[in-house]
Amino acid sequence: MNRVWNFSAGPAALPPAVLERAQRELLDWNGSGASVMEQSHRGKRFIAMAEQAEADLRALMDIPADYAVLFLQGGATQHFAQIPMNLAGPGDSADYIVSGHWSAKAVSEAGPYLHVNVAASSVADDYLMLPARDNWQLDPNAAYVHYTPNETIHGVEFHEVPEVGAVPLVADLSSNILSEPLDVNRFGLIYAGAQKNIGPSGLVVMIIRRDLLQRAGRPMAKIFRYAEHAAAGSMLNTPNTWGWYLSGLTFQWLLGQGGLEAMAKLNHAKADALYQAIDGSGGYYRNPIDLAARSRMNVRFELHDTALDAAFLQETEAAGLLALKGHKALGGMRASLYNAVPLAAVEALVEFMRDFARRHG
Ligand code: PMP
Repeated sequence: MNRVWNFSAGPAALPPAVLERAQRELLDWNGSGASVMEQSHRGKRFIAMAEQAEADLRALMDIPADYAVLFLQGGATQHFAQIPMNLAGPGDSADYIVSGHWSAKAVSEAGPYLHVNVAASSVADDYLMLPARDNWQLDPNAAYVHYTPNETIHGVEFHEVPEVGAVPLVADLSSNILSEPLDVNRFGLIYAGAQKNIGPSGLVVMIIRRDLLQRAGRPMAKIFRYAEHAAAGSMLNTPNTWGWYLSGLTFQWLLGQGGLEAMAKLNHAKADALYQAIDGSGGYYRNPIDLAARSRMNVRFELHDTALDAAFLQETEAAGLLALKGHKALGGMRASLYNAVPLAAVEALVEFMRDFARRHG
């Protein structure tokens, strides 16, 4: 076996202990004589597993009882559209904070369903910094305020939950959920695609304040209504059983690691080590992001000479350091440091970067 250090932005590294357990249980899950993928989601075993996964997520994130937890499909992208369908009527308006690629996409996908007010944007700064809270043009009558706490492509992260008064705050936590403790009470709705910090792709975890389930005023099919999913225990139709199961294993792994406090410490240590290596390289490597907005999860860096990019990528791959190529829209490099990426992976990367700079001068 030849496992590499995996810095993929998503689908991303999963904890080896989770994969090993899934491997052990693959052919005969829970004494059933079949894999978890081969049996009914209505069966006793699956329901018990699903309930345990929800209970473990509630424990990890300290989710209050007045929030429903949903295990949905469609990727975060589908929910860019489904959230406005559920939280606002056709004549309503919602505030959006645009801080990078994904929040901009959330705006364009919401457009057909309500009036989008871009309350703040850092596009004019090339998304190298966050839109300063003092300049947000929030509408007190907005149906909700949407923001993206961590921008996976642009590598910027909000390090505090913004204060938005009584209007429900909606957060796309796809790339930083479970990376640190979070006060769920501050939010109306949290959603995240699973394929970075939770499990495989094809699953979306949503945490929604129950009163917001009653909002959906427009005619729409049941399958689009969050209230119907909540009433059916996320089994309105056949769920992503494999994704739910693997996510449940990750939740148990996280609890065993000491929960989100432990993850926060680890994630800080990893990001600090990498940013220090970049900042301490005498300009050989550079991170372009405003210091206050640097992401702990997705660390962008550029080499001082783009002519070295190809060699850097080729050599990292040969050294077992996978998926460091930056997003095609931005070029350069990106190291994603989700929960399942250990400190040893970052140490190996830092060591490689020093050595590469020495060798290539
Ligand atoms: N939001 C964020 C912050 C993301 O990083 C991504 C995927 N990289 C998405 C939304 C889109 O997710 P999906 O592909 O699951 O629809």
